[in-house]
Amino acid sequence: MEINEQAKSILSYGECCDHCLGRFFGKRSFGLSNDERGRGLKIALAIGENQPYTKFTGNCWVCGNFFDGVQEWAERVVRTVQGIEFSSFLIGCRVPPLIAENEEMVWSDLSLTEPEPFKSEVNREVGKAVSVLIGKTVDFKKPDIVIILDPASETAEVQINSVFFYGRYQKYERGIPQTHWDCRACKGEGCEKCNFTGAQYMDSVEELIGRPVITAFDAQNAVLHGAGREDIDARMIGTGRPFIMEVVEPKVRSFDLAALEQEINRAAEGRVSVSIKRWSDRAEVETLKSNKAHKKYRILVEVDGALPADEFANALKTLQGATIHQRTPERVAHRRADKIRERKVLDIEYYGQQDGKFVVEILGEAGLYIKELISGDGGRTRPSLTEILNRSAHVFSLDVVQVEGMKEGD
Ligand SMILES: [Zn+2]
Ligand SMILES: [Zn+2]
Repeated sequence: MEINEQAKSILSYGECCDHCLGRFFGKRSFGLSNDERGRGLKIALAIGENQPYTKFTGNCWVCGNFFDGVQEWAERVVRTVQGIEFSSFLIGCRVPPLIAENEEMVWSDLSLTEPEPFKSEVNREVGKAVSVLIGKTVDFKKPDIVIILDPASETAEVQINSVFFYGRYQKYERGIPQTHWDCRACKGEGCEKCNFTGAQYMDSVEELIGRPVITAFDAQNAVLHGAGREDIDARMIGTGRPFIMEVVEPKVRSFDLAALEQEINRAAEGRVSVSIKRWSDRAEVETLKSNKAHKKYRILVEVDGALPADEFANALKTLQGATIHQRTPERVAHRRADKIRERKVLDIEYYGQQDGKFVVEILGEAGLYIKELISGDGGRTRPSLTEILNRSAHVFSLDVVQVEGMKEGD
């Protein structure tokens, strides 16, 4: 069917606005808006049939004259986003089912191949009008905020996208978990055991860093994504552990990162500290989490009975470069799959004695369980220092001193 024939058929369904008529051919010919396209078709039909052309003033059966209200929608959007800092945005729309049915019926009745859906014209036209009102740009890929129009209820709602920054943290105090743990007794609801806080531990690294962040960004929450995690009783010292902080629903997006770093470190009172390197994004969180970094540990080892230092040092040498077979340790078996992993001890060095304990530094392949490498975990880890010494050895204290990170920029 010719385009003119198709346009005529569409108009036979009922009165149709220029936008909707044009949109049925929305992917044909560039440099035109849908209403220009629609008006052009109506003019061509009027000339072809030698009929008078009149500007459309009726009630469109497809959209109910939605596009007369574009300016009003734009103003509603501007009111909705007041008090929120953003530089780019995107408009979305919950299409009323009736409008979707109307246009889909015509597409299939006339086998149209190049229509544009209602939704995309709405998003584009309201987006343009908002852009004119507030001078900010539409961004289809990574908008700061998304505003969803709901024609059915004549309301607009805002989704604020998270901001992210990348840094490293040190943890100087043992007994602080990396992220918030709900109280085991009440599962976070609050009970006598947790003093009605709902928390198993009063503070976590996430909260110590996150509280000033939530204030600074006027945000809902701050979520810490770490490059792995240390045990609750391990310190994280040396160059620190790489992390990305996700600031959830921030009303403020631009904040001086150096000032933020200062504020976090002041508030954490030496229990935790951060150095913030740069801004980051969601895609990098995935990279960070899949980053299989080698880690370096400094541990104090306690051995049963009296043991000459050179005998200890010789036993360590046996582990240098060794491949360790580790069955999932007893202590984490309840939350990890039970299997046997092979991990390498890349480097292991003896640093003398301290308070009757042996000081050791280990560079381990990602995923090597250090405590079990020493204790043997009842034979689940082999070889182990316990096995080599033929006497019980265990980790008295453990510090993570180095974790490889992401590109840190300048
Ligand atoms: Zn219409
Ligand atoms: Zn509780």
